[in-house]
Amino acid sequence: MTQIRMFLRMRKRFTLFAALVSFLLSAGPLAAQSPAPVTLVKAGRLLDPRTGTVLSPAAVLIEDGKIKEVGPPARVQAHAPAGVKIIDLGSATLLPGLIDSHTHLLLDVVVPPEEESKRHENGKFAPELLLAIVESPTKRAFLGARMAREDLESGITTVRNLGHSGIDGDTELRDAINAGRVPGPRILASARKLITRGEYVQNLNPALAESILKQEFLLIDGPESARQAVRKNVFQNVDVIKVSADENLTVPELAAAVEEAHRNHLKIAVHAIDKTAIQTAIDSGADSIEHGNEATDEQLKQMRDKGIFLDLTPTAYNHFLLKIMEPSIVLSPASRSARAIADASHDQLYDQLVQRVLKSRVKFAAGTDMCWFWPGKTCGQASVTTLLNLHAAGVPALDVIRAITTNAAEMLGWQDRIGAIEAGKFADLVAVSGDPLADITELERVRFVMKDGQVVRNDLASH
Ligand SMILES: [Zn+2]
Repeated sequence: MTQIRMFLRMRKRFTLFAALVSFLLSAGPLAAQSPAPVTLVKAGRLLDPRTGTVLSPAAVLIEDGKIKEVGPPARVQAHAPAGVKIIDLGSATLLPGLIDSHTHLLLDVVVPPEEESKRHENGKFAPELLLAIVESPTKRAFLGARMAREDLESGITTVRNLGHSGIDGDTELRDAINAGRVPGPRILASARKLITRGEYVQNLNPALAESILKQEFLLIDGPESARQAVRKNVFQNVDVIKVSADENLTVPELAAAVEEAHRNHLKIAVHAIDKTAIQTAIDSGADSIEHGNEATDEQLKQMRDKGIFLDLTPTAYNHFLLKIMEPSIVLSPASRSARAIADASHDQLYDQLVQRVLKSRVKFAAGTDMCWFWPGKTCGQASVTTLLNLHAAGVPALDVIRAITTNAAEMLGWQDRIGAIEAGKFADLVAVSGDPLADITELERVRFVMKDGQVVRNDLASH
């Protein structure tokens, strides 16, 4: 047993002890007698993404933050205790709370003007990201809290935060949300991203480069350092390990990280865009490949055969960069047209990727890779709009919904708690006015959000 594991075990024991003490102090006779809160949510329709079937009308009985029963209102209501709180959503359609499998809540990049970008150009690390990571960690934590709340208000009840959070930004934000100190979605936190020396820190001020690196990333330089990096994040109590694969990352290095993550019962999400990085991720036994834009048909087949998830991120689709730049930056005509041409060819390739993915039957989920400030939109609004790009790229509406509910839950390893409206799962629900299968943009107009059985928003309350 390593010292870290002993410490964690002791910490767990201490936490249990502390919980017991606080329970004994707080649980008077009244608290012991008050029953768990029970709520009945009724709606005109309930969509089960797994099967694609619609239950109409529908009711969901919720007890103590979890779903107890789902079915026709008459039957479910008969099982409800007297005095149950009833929320009637009229003709609305209920769905499971949405899951963003790839986001960056502690990063909100404002794209700088062209000349500033040129001056900060720095190898692979985009200048706008460089400007963000020199911010104070405290400032970023408050920013993360705001973006978490915005995600939740748009119906995103779970996110997987994959890096760019400083040392402990996302684990602390997760804990603050779980403790009820700030509102937000469930967070699977990854703490620092594992990278190789080649990425991100080239040409930084040498006096600061190491400090910035240590605050934002864990460096892989050989299999043993990959293992150590995973252990550092385990100590930070992460839910998932995030690695960025590039041509510098070797299979032995990534395989060591995978083995150490799995030994700690953690999944490993690997950023891989080009063919070489994708092959490294496949050969090392990654659990999910993030982005995967340049995956070949053969690689998609290998992923399907090995059960590796593809986490599609249709972020740049449909002129995303122009949309976020134009409201605040004057673009020269030359760079505007260059951008438009690049976007068109990107979208064409993405449409092809989507068709190849659907044909390959590889399991896929979706994430936003949201880390950008979109003028006029909240983080949640920008995120849902981005996820729906998948539909524009050719994914049928039901499969888009699966990618951000049931499939995402499976990729995260949380299929026993989220992603579906089923007995035993957390009561994370959203409702829209219309039929999301007929018009997927209904998801951009979520009217009701519930997390853990608590109403976050209800614009349908007049019913
Ligand atoms: Zn990302």
